[in-house]
Amino acid sequence: MNKITNRFNIMKFIIVLSGLIIMVTGCGNFNQNEGVNSNTKTMNSSKKAYINQDDINSLSTDENRMMQTIKNLTLTPRPIGSNEEKAACADLKSELESYGYQAEVQEFPYIVQSLKLNNIPFGEGEFWDFNISQPDGTSQNLIAVKKPNISDGKNILIISAHYDSSAHTTGAIDNASGVAVLMEVARNIASFPSNIEVRFLLFGGEENYLYGSRYYVNSLSEGERRRIIAAINLDCIGEEGPNPATLGTNDGKENAACKLFTDYDMQIDRGAMSDYYSFVKAGIPALSIAQNPVLAGTGHELSDDIARIDKAKLKTVADIVAKVLLNAMCLEK
Ligand SMILES: [Zn+2]
Repeated sequence: MNKITNRFNIMKFIIVLSGLIIMVTGCGNFNQNEGVNSNTKTMNSSKKAYINQDDINSLSTDENRMMQTIKNLTLTPRPIGSNEEKAACADLKSELESYGYQAEVQEFPYIVQSLKLNNIPFGEGEFWDFNISQPDGTSQNLIAVKKPNISDGKNILIISAHYDSSAHTTGAIDNASGVAVLMEVARNIASFPSNIEVRFLLFGGEENYLYGSRYYVNSLSEGERRRIIAAINLDCIGEEGPNPATLGTNDGKENAACKLFTDYDMQIDRGAMSDYYSFVKAGIPALSIAQNPVLAGTGHELSDDIARIDKAKLKTVADIVAKVLLNAMCLEK
């Protein structure tokens, strides 16, 4: 009887003590400024603390810089093959180089796809068919790579956004917003060490049936494809109004890419068509961070204006993506 009571008391003590530990460690990471639970991942056995957890927790992206990127991009429409699309690519390239990245332009000839294909999504053969005899023009992807610098880590993580727009809009929401988030994330993580390869991809010609991303994925070797742990796309973020950004997947279900975000309060839904789909078609875990439009048809219309962007929403997404990335940069192998 006595023994049992003693054991009971010891158990009570352990329960109270572990409760206290959970309270202390759990509350310490809660960042009230973001309005979402931004607890960062606790290092588990597959990770080493290459990056100080305090540095990850205290990372804070600059929403005014993101607004400036959107302002610079949205002076004109940037349709596929246009001089304006090329100029935007050149500007983004110099900007990425100023953060310390090596950036390269991948040019590709294209055909105006809507005239040549009648089914969306495409048939298998059409999706990867770049055998063009008479191109309608040339567009380009911009690729900036952060190589692993701790060891010879083999894993690749992709962050992408398309910088073209359709012909009749300056495309602030669709998709200068995604580009602005990508650029600010790239700037914030540039100086940290990494155990994985991070590729920042800015796609041209997305509005022409994902042309740039299809071309890019098609250009990857089988070995490279296998090394990609996840592709995270950014398309249509920060429209003012009640809708939050979500993690969009091909089937609306959680996949390996979503698992990187498990410590953040983001809903998973069926993604709208965007460049992540090119990775899905190649069997790579992919998602698109996007916001369901408040106004129907927002993306391709004149109403897609910088005045309708809520910069606090850009910051929420950029902070989360930067922290997810820093945690992934500590992954082994
Ligand atoms: Zn888009």
